[in-house]
Amino acid sequence: MPTSPPLRTTVVGSYPFPGWLELASQHLDAFGPDDLNELLDDAVAAAVKDQLDAGLDVVTDGEQTRLDFNLSFYGFLSGIAPEPLPPRRFGPPGHDQRGKHEIVGELAAPRGLGTLEEYRRLCRIAPPGTALKVSVPGPYTLSGRLLPNAQYPTRAAVAQALVPIVRRELETLIEAGCREICVDEPSMSCYGHKEDPATLVALFNKTVEPAVGRVRLGTHLCFGNYKGRAVAPRRYACLFPAFLEMHVDELHVEMASRELSELEIIGPIAKRMDVAIGIIDVKSYYIETLTDVADRVRRCLAFAPAERLSLAPDCGLSQTARWAARRKLASMVEGVAIVRRELGLG
Ligand SMILES: [Zn+2]
Repeated sequence: MPTSPPLRTTVVGSYPFPGWLELASQHLDAFGPDDLNELLDDAVAAAVKDQLDAGLDVVTDGEQTRLDFNLSFYGFLSGIAPEPLPPRRFGPPGHDQRGKHEIVGELAAPRGLGTLEEYRRLCRIAPPGTALKVSVPGPYTLSGRLLPNAQYPTRAAVAQALVPIVRRELETLIEAGCREICVDEPSMSCYGHKEDPATLVALFNKTVEPAVGRVRLGTHLCFGNYKGRAVAPRRYACLFPAFLEMHVDELHVEMASRELSELEIIGPIAKRMDVAIGIIDVKSYYIETLTDVADRVRRCLAFAPAERLSLAPDCGLSQTARWAARRKLASMVEGVAIVRRELGLG
């Protein structure tokens, strides 16, 4: 698996939609297939350009093509049907306004989960030689909005049924030449406090088994960011040491929005794998200064060596306005560069 340069700057995956994409996403019926393809190309090109302008070491497609139900993961699953209405429709925006899905048949993904097409599109659009990363949801996170039924009586049973689907997705991406994949499992960090963490790790490791050693593999463990809100007690302690057994090359943790609380956990993580630290708060419109960023990187270096550290925002940027996302990424890259120079890393 490719190793990473010291103090690599990276992102979690999603990037804000441009206004025109959001507007277009409400009128997709008006688009022919060629129009839609062109729209998605333009959106990915915009996200890639913003990330490259910021100077990131690795970029994603910004998840710009996951813009409506049919183009998102649940749109690729058969055997499910949306609940007629979400449990809450009014009031302040929150995760409980996203509807769940009933399971009405055998869970399957006959066309995969769509990430192969995303990867191919990104390869076509990003300049040659750009380091690329693709995000795939892990089975536990993917199970979050599927209601257990008689056939799949618990969330664990639903997640187990999704394991082969995600495994096949990873294999397909690797066969297509993908070099870095993040298997996102924020639901594990959100709900791990009421589960057995070792069982979650076993589920994760079974999922990534076909990818271990063949690709740079990461995971993202945050505390929720839908509409910029957390959904969990924001503590990592309950997950460790069990989560040190995850078979990944890089484990990402949310730190900036928590004022770097529990930062010491990156020490034991870095003894086993690389650790990506969220040093940019995607939920706040305060734009971190270069001094803020450099200070945070130096605090991380007190617990882990530079060659084990990646620096990133806390979560995907999809819930942050694009102007702020741009400025935050630019600050992050420039602030990290200050510390790189201090360490003679160029
Ligand atoms: Zn997240």
